[in-house]
Amino acid sequence: MTPWGGGAYGSRGRCLLAPNPGVMTLDGTNTWVLQEPGSSASVVVDPGPLADGHLDRLTAELGDVALVLLTHHHFDHAEVAVEFARRKGCAVRALDPGLCVDAPPLVDGEDLLVDGLSLRVLTTPGHTADSVSLVLPADGALLTGDMVLGRGTTVVAHPDGQLGPYFSSISRMRSLVLSGEVRTLWPAHGPVLDDALGVLDFYLAHRRERLAQVERALAELSVPLSPGLAADPTLPRRVVEVVYADVDESLWGAAELSVRAQLAYLASP
Ligand SMILES: [Zn+2]
Repeated sequence: MTPWGGGAYGSRGRCLLAPNPGVMTLDGTNTWVLQEPGSSASVVVDPGPLADGHLDRLTAELGDVALVLLTHHHFDHAEVAVEFARRKGCAVRALDPGLCVDAPPLVDGEDLLVDGLSLRVLTTPGHTADSVSLVLPADGALLTGDMVLGRGTTVVAHPDGQLGPYFSSISRMRSLVLSGEVRTLWPAHGPVLDDALGVLDFYLAHRRERLAQVERALAELSVPLSPGLAADPTLPRRVVEVVYADVDESLWGAAELSVRAQLAYLASP
């Protein structure tokens, strides 16, 4: 496993790793600090959780902060956002208006210009309904939040996360790579990914393979494909026990969320 501790990427990115490692968070949450060379203020993406002094570290290490952005609402990204923004005297923006402070919610395709730094907002639902990614064109980077992780794959956190939008969002990211605008992915957990196309292709293939496995598991369980699939409360667990038999049981809870998303996808016309 590649060790990951954050660090500087491109000419504008710096990752400060939060001390919250775990099964779901990998090495911890990546707090991305973006700043145009020569400018005085930064943009902070996902200030992270209230874990072991991360808030105080950000407050001490970062000078002027012009804006806090959130890739989605999960607490390991957003927990300290309001307090950090209060300390730095700046606004918070996210897709969900309820997470915003002193600023309107983000809009798909919106261009942000913050102290010389250009970012573009890409709404990328799938992991959650409110997931956004940020294009940093000058560095050819895409900040993916939890839609793409630095290792393994991500969770479609059903019912908030949905598989149909997930496929569309990954495909949207893929077209930015094919157009040459994006070369590298900066995830919210785990290391930076320089083979952007390879990773996105893997994500699509992996998810399609899991769908096929769920279909095979349903056949094994003698459950027909029908719109009623999503209504059986015991079915997700039974499918997990077939499909994820070779995966550590500590991951079955997350796997069940993904299976719920897959069953909902398969049940929809
Ligand atoms: Zn998340």
